[in-house]
Amino acid sequence: MPIRQHYQHQHADGTLVEGVRVGRLNGGVTSNFIVYRIGSVLVDCGPSNQWRHVKSFLESGPSIEQLWLTHHHEDHSGNASRVGRKYGLVPKAPIQAQQKLARGFRIPAIQQLTWGKPQRVITEPLAEKEYLANGDEAIAIHTPGHAKDLTCFYLPKQRWFFSGDLYLARALKYMRSDENLMELMLSLKKVLTLDIEVVFCPHRGIDEAGKAGMQDKLNYLIELCKNAQRNQAQGLSLAENTFQILGKPEMMDKVSRGNFSKANLIRQALSVDLQSIG
Ligand SMILES: [Zn+2]
Repeated sequence: MPIRQHYQHQHADGTLVEGVRVGRLNGGVTSNFIVYRIGSVLVDCGPSNQWRHVKSFLESGPSIEQLWLTHHHEDHSGNASRVGRKYGLVPKAPIQAQQKLARGFRIPAIQQLTWGKPQRVITEPLAEKEYLANGDEAIAIHTPGHAKDLTCFYLPKQRWFFSGDLYLARALKYMRSDENLMELMLSLKKVLTLDIEVVFCPHRGIDEAGKAGMQDKLNYLIELCKNAQRNQAQGLSLAENTFQILGKPEMMDKVSRGNFSKANLIRQALSVDLQSIG
């Protein structure tokens, strides 16, 4: 059953974030998506098969003047061209995402089933600093790992952090074949130097313990890498290593044909240089 949950968070200075959770499957946080708006600024725009619900959320508030995309993935960017047309704006996206968004990109069948297919969209590159309607700044922070283009938004005045898919899960068990674990860990390390009070995650929700959660995630990944590297030094094969740390392969490994698998995570854990994370 689809869920449509509403979110609200207001800073003492009056700045308000509203959100709505959309999704056609109620299969946990990774199969549905929260679209957030900070007044007239929309941060990501949800999957294309949820446009009807995203549209009514947008129409319930002030007119949208800007759309900032965190990365090209279809759950984040799926409605960008529709939002652009509806409000006469050009969405802004990380420079590394622009070509994919303009030309289209391959989406595995399972993801198409969950999110639908995004329409192609022409974007403008995000600047290092973007601004809310009242002039407050949002710093665009490149945080590759989950995707090469992933960019988070940090609002220093409010100490708010829009995490794209950087946070997502504290204890990763799977990794997509196009993810880069070493980069993900370096991105977490970089973000943990910021003074963050609230994390806005498009899958988990609004999390006031989000910074501690990202620290937990980094610690978990460091442990995972240590264990995987120790097991390899003791002669375990990749399959044995994966089984020992994460247990046997589950449905997802098969359904995604290895695109999203436990073995991907362990394979990458073996090549992480822990000294540069430390
Ligand atoms: Zn993503």
